[in-house]
Amino acid sequence: MQSREYDNELTYLTHDQADSVAAFHRAYEDAVESVRADLGQSHPLLIDGEDAETDDSFTVYNPGDRTVEIGEFAAGGEADVDAAVSAATAASSSWEATDVDARVEIFQDAAEIMRDRKFELAAALSLENGKNRTEAMADVDEAIDFLDFYAGELERAGGYEFDTGEPTPGQHTTNLLRPYGVFGVISPFNFPMALFVGMASGAMIAGNTVVAKPASTTPLTAHLFVDVLHEAGLPDGVINLVTGGGSDVGQPLVEHEDVHGVAFTGSRNVGTRIQETFMELGKRGPVIAELGGKNPVIVSDTADVDDAVSGVKNGAFSFSGQKCSATSRVYVHEDVIDEFTDKLVAQTEELTIGQATERETFVSPLIDDSALEYYQEITEQAREDGTVLTGGNVVTDGEYADGRFVEPTVVTDIPHEHDLAREEHFLPFVTIHPISDLEEGIEKSNDSEYGLCAGLFSQDDEEIDRWFDEVESGMTYVNRTQSATTGALVQAQPFGGWKFSGTTGKFAGGYWYLQQFMREQSRTRVE
Ligand code: NAP
Repeated sequence: MQSREYDNELTYLTHDQADSVAAFHRAYEDAVESVRADLGQSHPLLIDGEDAETDDSFTVYNPGDRTVEIGEFAAGGEADVDAAVSAATAASSSWEATDVDARVEIFQDAAEIMRDRKFELAAALSLENGKNRTEAMADVDEAIDFLDFYAGELERAGGYEFDTGEPTPGQHTTNLLRPYGVFGVISPFNFPMALFVGMASGAMIAGNTVVAKPASTTPLTAHLFVDVLHEAGLPDGVINLVTGGGSDVGQPLVEHEDVHGVAFTGSRNVGTRIQETFMELGKRGPVIAELGGKNPVIVSDTADVDDAVSGVKNGAFSFSGQKCSATSRVYVHEDVIDEFTDKLVAQTEELTIGQATERETFVSPLIDDSALEYYQEITEQAREDGTVLTGGNVVTDGEYADGRFVEPTVVTDIPHEHDLAREEHFLPFVTIHPISDLEEGIEKSNDSEYGLCAGLFSQDDEEIDRWFDEVESGMTYVNRTQSATTGALVQAQPFGGWKFSGTTGKFAGGYWYLQQFMREQSRTRVE
């Protein structure tokens, strides 16, 4: 096995280890004040390095306080997508011809600019999508890691070009990876910085130009990153930002004949539809799609139950379960299920629900009204078909009145086959199921169309080895109290899904990610 190390950004941990957590909080709180003072501006599209106005616009509000306007954003349409794709096409050959060192330097400089501004970026992210301060910072950290790691990989691979010599007399051969041309990049709301940056920079570092469409709930974060890129010297037209709705901007972007590949992270429905569209239109480029999850955790009778409770609580309820990697179904050995469930319920009831920017907040607001309605629907269903042990209510009193706050919810007595235990909810909602042994736990864990993240709590080496070998999941974690299923690091824990959780089998932040944005060319020249 090869071995390689990488220094992740890990801002909060670094402050913690240096005994400077107070400074972390002060810097974040100062940044929140200054970002707040700047909210409410108008943001046009960005095409070929220029602002582009549109007739329509949409307003984004803070999900924790809908009286706070984040900004007014241009609502693009098909004509804007056309203009952006033309700009990306025009910039394509000179960007491909830009030498590797120059390309690497731009993205390393962008990482450095983000490092300098990380508190401001994290504060903006908290206000826009409701992520609490440590998680908002982790989102920004991950984005910095993506820039730094992918740039480093391009450099290490020498631009993916090999002189393959003179295999037969007089024939000189070269083998290289080349960009496809123009990529559409479509990102979700829940990691608005990391995933937007990761996909867009992956495409661009590989030599493609990009038309990017962020989630309609998180366009500010995308603007902030594009500003950073231009400050770092990215040439005009290499990234073009078209904000607007999924069917108004995302769909025409996917269907555009000059868009050669798409990098998408989001729901399974939209992702598989994008793949089908590519096939129907006879497009040959890649659809690099990271999709949903229904992430199982097994708690064995040999587990440290307190560790398991901590891992499940953090995995299920951080960022209110709005993570593709959120723990959503837990299979607990019947000998320990009562102890596990009682402790999980007690600790869940102690979690602080609140505004993202408040220091104590663990459970943050939901992103939009449809998430709130879905929460009401599934908790009602859980009351009818199972037992809601804690949670299940929308919180609307006092300081919560203007936000979308809900209680973290623990449910039992739901059959493993029930929709509540099979479908992704993307909410703070977890179901607990009894099992009689590891085999049953593995069988039920694998009985899912998804295969993103999975966890195990066990003190038995044989169980652990067997589980690693048999569980059908892209990311696998054993005895992780920090979180049973969430919180992957670039390079160390590349992130992607099996089955319907992803389309490529190659993971973001891993050694085989960048190559997906390129195709191979073998060059033979007779001399
Ligand atoms: P989503 O509704 O699928 O939206 C994702 C993006 O697709 C948004 O930019 C959205 O635009 C756009 N979109 C919507 N309809 C479209 C269409 N017809 N054509 C093209 N683009 C379209 O997902 P989300 O609610 O933002 O995020 C949650 C989902 O993402 C969950 O399923 C989660 O598991 C998944 N996710 C997966 C990973 C992973 O790495 N596997 C990571 C994070 C999230 P609008 O915002 O304008 O609708």
